[in-house]
Amino acid sequence: MDEFSLIRQFFSARQNRHADNGVTLGIGDDAAIINPDPGEQLLITTDTLISGVHFPAQTSARAVGHKALAVNLSDIAAMGGRPRWLTLALSLPSADATWLKMFSDGLFALADQYAVELVGGDTTKGPLSITITVIGSIARDEAIKRSGAQPGDAIFVTGQPGMAALGLADIQGKIKLPDTEQAVYRSKLEYPHPRLSEGQYLQSFVSAMIDISDGLAADLKHILVASGCAAIVNPEILTRGLARATDLPTTFIENAVLHGGDDYELLFTVPDQQLATLKQTWPEELAPLCEIGRITKGTGIRVQNHNGNVSKLTIHGYNHFNE
Ligand code: ADP
Ligand code: MG
Repeated sequence: MDEFSLIRQFFSARQNRHADNGVTLGIGDDAAIINPDPGEQLLITTDTLISGVHFPAQTSARAVGHKALAVNLSDIAAMGGRPRWLTLALSLPSADATWLKMFSDGLFALADQYAVELVGGDTTKGPLSITITVIGSIARDEAIKRSGAQPGDAIFVTGQPGMAALGLADIQGKIKLPDTEQAVYRSKLEYPHPRLSEGQYLQSFVSAMIDISDGLAADLKHILVASGCAAIVNPEILTRGLARATDLPTTFIENAVLHGGDDYELLFTVPDQQLATLKQTWPEELAPLCEIGRITKGTGIRVQNHNGNVSKLTIHGYNHFNE
């Protein structure tokens, strides 16, 4: 299979799947032509996944296709926006039709769920790596940045951070999850669900937002640095549930909750005057919210552990080139 039949069979044959998608010209020319709606701004984000770095080499092609898109959609969610278009730059060791079929099925299943349209890309031979750019949209000046947190704001996360890290530790044989839990934790790692509906709902309530890719503490620090403030957090509500389900030591769970990456939950801050309405109106079909702390004056993160002791937190989330 040559480059062009590969592109046709697995990618361009599957475009124009969504009515009214704002695409004037998709795959096939030198560049795509897309049309943002009047009054909207574009959100542009790119992420690369490299085999052996961002996913274990034996990961299924379907999971790789899903995750490569999911991590980008998660960034659009963290801005409060709506994803619209994507481009796909693929580096492949060989044109393996079985792998490509599964990969593209995983990718398009998620793209279709949010009516995101593939409009272009690039295909080369080389070590397995996937770079996706997602273009989203949002009403002018409505996007949520990392820099808006203020002392007094409450700190929240969606869902249950730490599960993906435990799923990975289980795959790597470092821990053994109970049989009843294993599949759920592994699927958090391999099929993360971007919190798009949550991000769009939160858009009118929050002062700052980020998605958790490197770990709760590391990503909270990004908000604190951008906003020029500090935080005190108590992760006990998050650790209790995980400790009960997995029977692992509390300190181990605390570490997964605070420093485990790859969860793609949303972490955000809410001003006091928005707090009651957000809690009362939060739609029950969305991921559960968990209040974990407060923004304060100063710098850094202080954490209250399960004994009630407060200590300063050192970050050890994932950081490329930080060997
Ligand atoms: P060019 O040489 O002009 O860069 P290419 O030959 O690389 O064009 O690609 C031809 C067309 O196929 C372009 O429209 C490009 O966007 C699209 N394309 C290439 N690879 C992919 C891919 N993996 N997924 C989607 N579209 C792709
Ligand atoms: Mg090209």
